[in-house]
Amino acid sequence: METIHFVIVGHVDHGKSTLIGRLLYDTNSLSHDKIDEVKMVSKDLGTKIEFAYLLDHLEEERQQKITIETTQTFFKTDKRQYVIIDTPGHVEFVKNMITGASQAEAAILIVDVQEGVREQTKRHSYILSLLDLKQVIVVLNKMDLIGYNQEHFDKVKDDIERFLASINIQPTHYIPICAMHSDNVVKKSTNMPWYDGLTVLESLESLKASIPDENKPLIMTIQDVYKFVDKRIAVGRVETGMIKKGDEIKILPDAQTTKVNSIEKYLEDVDKSYAGECIGITTTEPVFLDRGNVVCEPSKEPYLTDTFKANVFWMSKKDFNKEEKIILRCATQEISCSIKKIEERIDSSSLDILEKDASKLCNLEVGEVIIKTKKPIVIKPFNEIQELGRFVLVRDENICAGGIIRA
Ligand code: GDP
Repeated sequence: METIHFVIVGHVDHGKSTLIGRLLYDTNSLSHDKIDEVKMVSKDLGTKIEFAYLLDHLEEERQQKITIETTQTFFKTDKRQYVIIDTPGHVEFVKNMITGASQAEAAILIVDVQEGVREQTKRHSYILSLLDLKQVIVVLNKMDLIGYNQEHFDKVKDDIERFLASINIQPTHYIPICAMHSDNVVKKSTNMPWYDGLTVLESLESLKASIPDENKPLIMTIQDVYKFVDKRIAVGRVETGMIKKGDEIKILPDAQTTKVNSIEKYLEDVDKSYAGECIGITTTEPVFLDRGNVVCEPSKEPYLTDTFKANVFWMSKKDFNKEEKIILRCATQEISCSIKKIEERIDSSSLDILEKDASKLCNLEVGEVIIKTKKPIVIKPFNEIQELGRFVLVRDENICAGGIIRA
């Protein structure tokens, strides 16, 4: 089944948990037990079902790891499945996104319509822009508090639009909602006849899922090469695409071409293998294969370059100085590099540009940088193939930064 991963971001108390709870409840994604349980506790507290409470409750369960299902917040429609990625804080969010722990294809930005754009609205939006997330839905929550007033909505929407345009985000929708009472979340609201756009769920259904990894061109990263008396088996992971016996392949960075002679999976011969699988291959020609090599389709190669533009998120207490040499790891490639230019040094909390053409990066700062590697490496922009579009920087065996490749 097709799956879309998305994040919900926004300033604290603007209604993130309530919206998540509402989406789960209104799509019947919660078990009856859970609803009854929440209803009972809520009654005890003398309140109606509080969706924020529901979410906190799920969170509690998640932390105690009672059931595996609740470690993911997901719901289903007839069309597809949705996974909501949680964002405990913006630092964790950036870390997770960059290290690949979570990958969102879309985002909902929630704004309390009474409060408008606040500090965390800005920070989170900036991160979406940094990650080049193209599909952003803006929801203006708590419309009940302004009497479902259109003029007020329009004014706040204009503010948000102006701010988002300044950081290069063009949202696909602006939706007035009341998460608490379910207006325009799954069902159209009767309180806002002036609004003729989509509901939150409809806007989610209109998102484009990214191309499944196995439909992309072949990328296999080589982890290791095992030498036997009669053959050499190169072992690695099929990151994207498909590989089959007899396929013509190109091996980067040396650009040797050969054909796949055999594929082994769990010590068994197979004819083909798909994205996500770890396999071993032998080739018809005796080519030189080594850890860090990338196997691809001859006409659909990724880039081989020694200079590229990237965003790095520095997460080490010890500053980085521009003169330093540092190790870059991208997929299984590992190479010495230098940062040629730090175009901007940005405080990841305030989003202030601290310095242009800077000479250092400090803890929790974002740098827009140009990286030069000692030898050419195989890369792709992050929004095309994530496995070849993100990297970490390593100093003295410690990972001190994560980065994504822009161009
Ligand atoms: P979060 O911090 O972004 O997860 O925000 P919560 O979902 O915890 O909501 C913060 C507060 O706003 C809670 O007390 C909610 O009950 C309240 N709230 C959420 N949505 C609405 C809404 O649509 N209308 C009103 N009046 N209150 C809401």
